[in-house]
Amino acid sequence: MSVLSEDQRIQILHDLVAILSVNDHEQKVAEYLRKLLAAHQIDSQILPVTGDRANLVAEIGSGHPILGISGHMDVVDPGDADQWASDPFTLTERQGNLYGRGATDMKSGLAAMVIAMIELAAQGKPTKGTIRLMATMGEEVGELGSKYFLDDGYMKDVDALLIGEPSGWYVAHAHKGSMDIRFTSHGRAAHSSMPEDGFNAIDPLLQLLQDGNHLFREMNHETNELLGPLTFNTTIFNGGSQVNSIPDKAVAEVNIRTIPELNNAEVKEELQRLVTIQKEDGAQIDMDVYMSQPSRSVQGDSALADLAAKLGQQYSGKELKRGGIAPVTDASNLLEGKPKNYPFVIFGPGNNTPHQVNESVPKKMYLQFCDLYQDLFDQFLNA
Ligand SMILES: [Zn+2]
Repeated sequence: MSVLSEDQRIQILHDLVAILSVNDHEQKVAEYLRKLLAAHQIDSQILPVTGDRANLVAEIGSGHPILGISGHMDVVDPGDADQWASDPFTLTERQGNLYGRGATDMKSGLAAMVIAMIELAAQGKPTKGTIRLMATMGEEVGELGSKYFLDDGYMKDVDALLIGEPSGWYVAHAHKGSMDIRFTSHGRAAHSSMPEDGFNAIDPLLQLLQDGNHLFREMNHETNELLGPLTFNTTIFNGGSQVNSIPDKAVAEVNIRTIPELNNAEVKEELQRLVTIQKEDGAQIDMDVYMSQPSRSVQGDSALADLAAKLGQQYSGKELKRGGIAPVTDASNLLEGKPKNYPFVIFGPGNNTPHQVNESVPKKMYLQFCDLYQDLFDQFLNA
């Protein structure tokens, strides 16, 4: 007999979607979860970060093994609400799907984890080991919250980790890394009729970005069997202010999705080399790596991954594929220092609508994960 009915489970997701935790205000989500857990005799702790931002940690059971489960409480901006068929912050059901910002990424995964803990605790479970929920803030921009969990030692004694990002019926055990880099080129302004009096800031920056494209697209033959190739893209370019002036400043930003075979440190080193080439020709270019999260990849045949795949098949009625996903997750931080054979999966309800207008989660899948997580957490700890 369940403690929470189907309607209550939907209501919890509804409540979570209604909290506007758009890259901020995760403390409101944390407070909601703390109250919900407390109503079912589960202690939790809000860990303030800054302003209205906080992480939340909650545990049931005791001793080892410790299964870490993690989900983020922030969501991305819904954009133009008029483009949505219904209000992005009001969970709305249409044709078997639940629509709303965060429905897939990842308030459904977070809700399913919390519901599973409530149900297990009500049955006096786990009888062996501990489930530690780490709900994070600031995942969508720079994986901020998980860095706090890592630095404060919450991962030290964790024996296995599940992140409930929206994999759907797929078990992921690897994801790409990500880097955001800003290049600022400084030149010297001059009237465009006398360019020899100035130094064009745009020219060397263009050359640098072309060299980057050449190096990371044409010359790069490194590819990861799960993740594919590294990708390199200039995403922002600004320079000059007047058509008849030699520009004294140009700024470009690039995003790079890294793989273990060509990691963040190696990419940085290569780019510094390209900057140096431009400097030798008289350019003045500053390089600022303002975000850098490593890729993560563990063995795909851990006991946790096997169990996730087995239960996924039971619930969905189809065989689950395993492999990698492109987006960065909190595992960039949480898996720091863990070995290649560490049991880790990304496994949670959702479809391919994250960050999109009319984001949704299949209602049935959400409800299945509420039950599946109970089986997964309990069976993993008792294995
Ligand atoms: Zn996410």
